[in-house]
Amino acid sequence: MTTPTILRPASAREPSPDDVAAGASAAARPVLELRGVGKVYPNGKAALHDVDLSLEEGEFVFLVGPSGAGKTTLLKLLIRDEMPTSGEMILDGRDLARVPRRKVPELRRTIGIVFQDYKLLPTRSVRENVSFALEVTGTPRGRIRPAVDQALAVVGLGAQADQLPTTLSGGEQQRTAIARALVHEPRLIIADEPTGNLDPLISWEIIQLLLRINELGVTVLMATHNAGVVTALRRRVVALEEGRVVRDEVGGYHRDD
Ligand code: ADP
Repeated sequence: MTTPTILRPASAREPSPDDVAAGASAAARPVLELRGVGKVYPNGKAALHDVDLSLEEGEFVFLVGPSGAGKTTLLKLLIRDEMPTSGEMILDGRDLARVPRRKVPELRRTIGIVFQDYKLLPTRSVRENVSFALEVTGTPRGRIRPAVDQALAVVGLGAQADQLPTTLSGGEQQRTAIARALVHEPRLIIADEPTGNLDPLISWEIIQLLLRINELGVTVLMATHNAGVVTALRRRVVALEEGRVVRDEVGGYHRDD
């Protein structure tokens, strides 16, 4: 069986002749680069100071830090919900500050976003929630159905496709949100506390799903307070405190974990 396109993001495709000529590994291309990024809100609150961060294609990175450390602000900058007041942000080779406002929706489609509270449309079925993401972008009808079926299959929700979100468990609602994030075949998934509303067992299921998606080549940046998960997985951890990166290394939730 050939692998559906949604299971073959950029890093899993054949390297281009340019990559080969340059000796470049497709797995070592930065998806995201932040250089000296600062954010001061209009009320004068400085939420981020001089943040440097580079995410290579295919990485799975935890973003941790106490409440108020600047995690949500950082994620908002990535989707152009907020603008930095200093520094440079390069996503997939594009300078985020230079993306014209009318192109922001297009930019957001290159990133899959998953929130703590799912943000599903309550009166639409699982299938409609996922397909709506494609309809608003003018994807031809004939392409929507197979793409949605694939995304639902990846998250294991094929059988619940016609149910309303209110009839689903929290874990299934989050799976729906992940399918919606995946349906555009993003190179980067940003998850803001995706397990924040879920009990420990279901949290692990969601993490396993994100890890599987990451194994397919999608870069994942996940903000979380879930110390147990972070410490158990020994992935790269970027820790923010008072708006500064105070740690960036493979390890546990805390420096000594
Ligand atoms: P975290 O997600 O790590 O809890 P946030 O990014 O939400 O942190 O917040 C970082 C700091 O910026 C906090 O002190 C918060 O009060 C402040 N902040 C967040 N959003 C705004 C805003 N729109 N206006 C002013 N200050 C803000």
